[in-house]
Amino acid sequence: MGEPLEEQRIGAVTVLYGERHGKYPHGNSLVVRGRNETVVIDPSLGLVAREPAQRPRADRVLHSHCHEDHIAGSFLFRDSPWYFHEADLPGIRSLDGLMDLYGYPEPVLSAWRKTVVERFHFEARPDARPFRGGDVFDLGGARVEVIHAPGHTRGHSFFRVEPDDLVYLADVDLSSFGPYYGDAWSDLEDFERTLSAARGLRARYYATFHHVGVLEGREAFLERLERFAAVIGERERRLLEFLAEPRSLEDVVRHRFVYRPQDPVPFADPVERRSMAQHVARLVRIGRVRSLGSGLYRASPA
Ligand SMILES: [Zn+2]
Repeated sequence: MGEPLEEQRIGAVTVLYGERHGKYPHGNSLVVRGRNETVVIDPSLGLVAREPAQRPRADRVLHSHCHEDHIAGSFLFRDSPWYFHEADLPGIRSLDGLMDLYGYPEPVLSAWRKTVVERFHFEARPDARPFRGGDVFDLGGARVEVIHAPGHTRGHSFFRVEPDDLVYLADVDLSSFGPYYGDAWSDLEDFERTLSAARGLRARYYATFHHVGVLEGREAFLERLERFAAVIGERERRLLEFLAEPRSLEDVVRHRFVYRPQDPVPFADPVERRSMAQHVARLVRIGRVRSLGSGLYRASPA
């Protein structure tokens, strides 16, 4: 199985890093151990890659949201209850529900259905349980509090772990890729509200599912958060530039604003369409872009 995967302990929390420090499709999972209970948060492919003896036990499995990479190791905990924010529950209750969450058209849809089952070990859990923002899991000496942080998906949530003063940010992952809001259940403006709220989070440690792992100190966090959030404005600025000429949404999709043209992402087209259509719609709403009819858009003179 290659090199042993890295772990990092912070009080009651252990971060179980995935391969390549959790770079997608891998991810970093958390284990929180209290006196009475242990919870695993976002079981990733990194748990699947570990030897069975190296995997944690779990009394409950908490998920920040219902995306393939965050549930890829959940099947290892079949006998434990699984929890999601109530808004993301339909995604785990059936494979069709999960596909609705992405909203990809054919032929991407059929290929993706297969991928989430074969590569990400998706198993439907009709009995998965809901949580809501403000809910607290008391593990005995350690607590995990849910902070609803929608936009990436409807139910996307952070978890605050006390007494360790750690906030797990899940897919507000502070990466250079920037915010992802390209699914049917994503929402750009919810994501922006979540980013604004995140600026007010006070903690000693900030953990993410991908790349970054754990940051210490609010200053380091705020700096990364600003760079991450700025990607949204950068996409919008490039879009406005592109719309100096009349263009259709298909032109926008082909040009690529979220992924780079050379990125081999099978679902790039629907993600570009969904992400950038939200930018176009709001630019039309605020009068920065005009709809010219016949599906063409052009930036209004400043
Ligand atoms: Zn995600």
